[in-house]
Amino acid sequence: MAADRSIDTLTPRQVALVAAAFVGILVGMLAIVLVLRLDAAISVWWCLLLAAVAFGAAYLVVMVALERFINARIRLLFRMVHDLKTDRGGSAPVVDMSTDVLGQVQATVEDWAQEKRTEITELREREQFRREFIGNLSHELKTPIFNIQGYILTLLEGGLEDPKVNRDFLERAARGTDRLTKIVEDMDLIAKLESGVMEMTLEPTDLSDLVNDELADASRHAKEKGIILRSEITEPLMVQCDPGRMAQLFMNLLNNAINYGRPGGSVVVRAFTVEGGQVLVEVSDNGIGIAPEHLPRLFERFYRVGKSRARNEGGSGLGLAIVKHIIDAHGQSITVRSTEGEGTVFAFTLKRA
Ligand code: ADP
Repeated sequence: MAADRSIDTLTPRQVALVAAAFVGILVGMLAIVLVLRLDAAISVWWCLLLAAVAFGAAYLVVMVALERFINARIRLLFRMVHDLKTDRGGSAPVVDMSTDVLGQVQATVEDWAQEKRTEITELREREQFRREFIGNLSHELKTPIFNIQGYILTLLEGGLEDPKVNRDFLERAARGTDRLTKIVEDMDLIAKLESGVMEMTLEPTDLSDLVNDELADASRHAKEKGIILRSEITEPLMVQCDPGRMAQLFMNLLNNAINYGRPGGSVVVRAFTVEGGQVLVEVSDNGIGIAPEHLPRLFERFYRVGKSRARNEGGSGLGLAIVKHIIDAHGQSITVRSTEGEGTVFAFTLKRA
């Protein structure tokens, strides 16, 4: 937003007219005084003519001087701002001497300064975001790396020969590398989603089939935790989505529902057709739930409810950020509602095919 531009500046033409009028009146009065004093035989009409000539000459001189001044300074300034704004060279805009040139310069400079201020704020925010992101990433990588290092060192320092620990430590180190791989893969996916390299190929897809496939893939994990998985989408339901990315989204939501579910609990996937040719999909669990203060930040990268709880489960902290990106790329929206100790529901929309 440009600041108030209503400053009282005269146009160059008005300045020239005022100056010329001043000179004209002065010359006319001088001529009349001279006529009276010297008793010269010149009529008043000659004095008026002299004043008019002086007025015209002064007007021309002031206009030429002002034009030269404006061309030399203000047009240069105009051109500089114009070039900086458009990021390219070119001819300066024409300065119209009958307009408020200084007011225009002020407005242009103010506009330009406002643009620069916005740009600087954006750059600062991005820089802050980048710093936080790198900090979070190195923090996430540190835990599995130190764990792996610890197990390998213990094995090298004699553990290898001890049948009671060697297999156990190797398995733990392997879990550490799995965790590292997951973080790197998720990072790669987020980077691709954000840069737009990964384009969505939306196609009519049967949601019921897709959900059943994902439930089958997650069944071993659920069994280990004593959790029952169920889909209530019993009829074919065609939606417009990228099936690969949608599978990834269900995998992340189901993994979370299982990880933060309760033994003997259940995870259910439902779908409802809603107005506007849309489908509302819900993935719900009756697990530990999430306190309300965490809900607004849940989809941020690396955001964790309990600092230790997720790390123990081996998550990358990027699962929900990826889910949000996928939903955004489909032009849809996702929400979460949860009650601590009772369970969580993730609900998102999809377009009906
Ligand atoms: P993570 O890899 O840590 O699971 P996510 O981005 O998938 O990362 O999830 C972020 C955080 O949200 C998790 O650390 C967990 O605390 C919380 N969360 C996600 N899903 C659920 C759920 N279904 N029930 C309870 N808490 C959840």
